[in-house]
Amino acid sequence: MSLSYLAKTIAESPTLRLNEEARLLRERGEQVIHLGIGEPKNKAPINAILNSAAKLNSGDIKYSPTDGVPSLKKAIIRYTEENYSKVVEPENVIVSSGAKQAIYNILYSLVNPQDEVIVLAPYWVSYPEIVKMVYGVPVVVVPEDGSLHPRMEDITRSISPSTKAIIVNSPNNPSGLVFSENFIAQIVQYCEEKGIYLIMDDIYHKLVFNGKKAVSCYDFTRKGIEESRLVLVNGISKLYGMTGFRIGWTIGSRKLVEVMTNIQAQTTSCASVVLQAAAEGALTGIQSIVENLRLTIENNRNIMMQELESFNGVKTTEPDGTFYCFPDFRSYTQNSVELSEFLLRKALVVTVPGKEFGMEGYLRLSYAGSVKDITEGIARMKWALDPDSPNEIYIGDKKMVRDWL
Ligand code: PMP
Repeated sequence: MSLSYLAKTIAESPTLRLNEEARLLRERGEQVIHLGIGEPKNKAPINAILNSAAKLNSGDIKYSPTDGVPSLKKAIIRYTEENYSKVVEPENVIVSSGAKQAIYNILYSLVNPQDEVIVLAPYWVSYPEIVKMVYGVPVVVVPEDGSLHPRMEDITRSISPSTKAIIVNSPNNPSGLVFSENFIAQIVQYCEEKGIYLIMDDIYHKLVFNGKKAVSCYDFTRKGIEESRLVLVNGISKLYGMTGFRIGWTIGSRKLVEVMTNIQAQTTSCASVVLQAAAEGALTGIQSIVENLRLTIENNRNIMMQELESFNGVKTTEPDGTFYCFPDFRSYTQNSVELSEFLLRKALVVTVPGKEFGMEGYLRLSYAGSVKDITEGIARMKWALDPDSPNEIYIGDKKMVRDWL
């Protein structure tokens, strides 16, 4: 098969390979624990189900306006006002099939061939791949102080005349860190001064622990939305645990939303009206689900941290939000793909290699699953790696003996 130049630039994902291997192991009856998954186990909010069911029952399932159903856009405007203290117009909002499509359309709208887009490591896997898909060049910036929190001095050193945009994701996938108010203030002001687009991926902004709050980027801008180059991405996937509904949105200038609408018109036409109804139901319905989900995940985070504390050689940075933590396994190996493969084959635990997020020697562990999966998963990982842990373990009723340390 002769593939396009672009198709060849998209990286093969070791995660897909590992997930497939895990699926085959499960099919064979092996008791695999998945610490790789980025979605909670909750049921969809009742208001989302009822609203989409009512839409289905009406039988009137047609195209919607390309930029979204007006009543959903209204709910998004209210959400933005309540959570960001920012009032925007319907022309500043476009609904897409997930935050992922929103980010793709934003970058398609902004990036010329060879334009650079700054991506902050550790980064969400899709950012550099999407940048490449629109012929841009991802410029990865790693915090030089060895931490997981980005620093302005590292970013400004990486700016060039070709820098078109910077993507910031706080709370962060994979580190779970909420970036400091000071950092957000500085990056907003810096981008404004330099005329660089700042794409804020706020998909986890309500999933924050210890009574903290992720700040609103709009607090630090001096410009109105039409002059500003601030672009905000959000969605229902993480907020309500509604990953399968595939609804996300963008808030930006009219000009950007207009161009994104043209792109969407030629690709998906619009997000499904049934799923847009579900999103509207979630946004306008009872909000206690968000807090309940947050409390469950915070409890899971605490358990995960407690279990990792007694893991010899593993360095952790406590996550302030999201479903993830990103521990440092470099005292065991630099090769995170090999480590993930080893943990799957020996301990039947799925993890995501740090290499996927631009940092070798780390693993991303998810605590979106059950408490049992977290405690048992970490116990199995300790057994596989830590010579100070007991060398026998039960996986189901199978006694496993470690014979490699
Ligand atoms: N941004 C980040 C940082 C994510 O982790 C994800 C989902 N894993 C997305 C965007 C995509 O969200 P959606 O399901 O709305 O496409």
